[in-house]
Amino acid sequence: MLICRFAAGEDIWYGAVDGLDDDDAITEESIVAPIEGHPFVDIRPEGSVLKLADVRLLAPVIPTKVVCVGKNYRAHAAEMGGEVPEEPLLFAKPSTAVIGTGDPIDLPWQSEQVEHEGELAVVIGRMCKDVPIDRVDDVIFGYTCANDVTARDLQAKDGQWLRAKGFDTFAPLGPWIQTDLTPADADITVTVNGETRQHAGLDTMVHDVPALVAYVSSCMTLLPGDVILTGTPEGVGPLVAGDSVSVGITGIGTLTNPVRSAAP
Ligand code: MG
Repeated sequence: MLICRFAAGEDIWYGAVDGLDDDDAITEESIVAPIEGHPFVDIRPEGSVLKLADVRLLAPVIPTKVVCVGKNYRAHAAEMGGEVPEEPLLFAKPSTAVIGTGDPIDLPWQSEQVEHEGELAVVIGRMCKDVPIDRVDDVIFGYTCANDVTARDLQAKDGQWLRAKGFDTFAPLGPWIQTDLTPADADITVTVNGETRQHAGLDTMVHDVPALVAYVSSCMTLLPGDVILTGTPEGVGPLVAGDSVSVGITGIGTLTNPVRSAAP
């Protein structure tokens, strides 16, 4: 099931998406059925049906934290000049970095080198701590596409990554959450202005989703709606004002964001 969050008029709803095309893209036939209450608790259709093209999609979840994993694909670790660490390398983005599909990525004046990192995002559905690997499925609500937007020059300059990864708009999520995905069967493609920049099977990540959720939850309590970004494959590259960057994952859909200069 595909669960989105959207604005219609002055109201904000969660909804169930249906009627996408074979590439999980929106067509004139695509619909959204608003859900009463919160989908993490109970998916109850409210009764109406809207055309998906007529609503404004929002970030599909509002996390209390976005936990990220660095260097989780060998070829990307190599292009960064290193190897995959033995244990997952964790960092975080503030919740204020989250935007939805269609929202602009603002290039901050402090950086001259902002890059895309397309990633699979895991959406946690239940409060949890110390989740054993064989129970991880119980705490995952679903999956969405993410872009771990990074100010590469500031990442190198600062020595730690909060500023480089944490600017407003640096955590695009969406377009919706897929509750029925086997990540190892899916692949990810990142395009900039239609040109492919990154492409990989999700089965090539080093620490897989169960290992990552178990590891992160051994460090901190995860709350419903928290998001784990699972690392980016090789091919990261620059974003400049005027670009349109898309992260597509088979079985989910495509997250697309325009890029613009932020006012100083
Ligand atoms: Mg990343």
